[in-house]
Amino acid sequence: MKKRVGVFVCDCGTNIASAVDTEKVAEYARQLPGVVFATTYKYMCSDPGQELVRNAIQDQGLEQVVIASCSPRMHEKTFRQAVEAGGINGYMFEMVNIREQNSWVHTDREEATKKAMDLVRMAVSKVLKNVPLQVSTIPITKKAMVIGGGIAGMQAALDIAESGHKVILVEKQASIGGKMTQLDKTFPTMDCAA
Ligand code: SF4
Repeated sequence: MKKRVGVFVCDCGTNIASAVDTEKVAEYARQLPGVVFATTYKYMCSDPGQELVRNAIQDQGLEQVVIASCSPRMHEKTFRQAVEAGGINGYMFEMVNIREQNSWVHTDREEATKKAMDLVRMAVSKVLKNVPLQVSTIPITKKAMVIGGGIAGMQAALDIAESGHKVILVEKQASIGGKMTQLDKTFPTMDCAA
């Protein structure tokens, strides 16, 4: 497998760029083994930002991509799709969080920049070991078995049933209720436990 990594560092306007020297991070990334291209961009998730990623994959013959921006919760799917649209497997991509876990929580620009460099270096090492993956869909039977008819088991069975799925509740004793049925009354309402 070729080792041609592209690194994209996002400014997020000033969200990242005010606390992290993104140009310095990109410059550092260019020296890392396997990295053949590194750049910054103001808003990487925007349409032009995604186009930049797609074009770089094709023009630079990239095989792996690292994007340093926000939380994967925010844009991992966006970038995976952009990487796939550029022609490489979506799992040959790693996302680095230099916003929520860096620029938003640090005030020392130099330290935050160093941390971003460390995170990028780790992601580059990881992406070089990634292998292409395929998403597969497996048909499942939407039916559950709950083992144990105590209070927890009964409640779990009821919750599953209420969400519209068939449930089989299995209990080894002659009756359900577990420990609860051995009690007389329950505090503070003094209701009959059974
Ligand atoms: S990719 Fe994330 S960090 Fe970059 S501009 Fe979009 S929201 Fe901001």
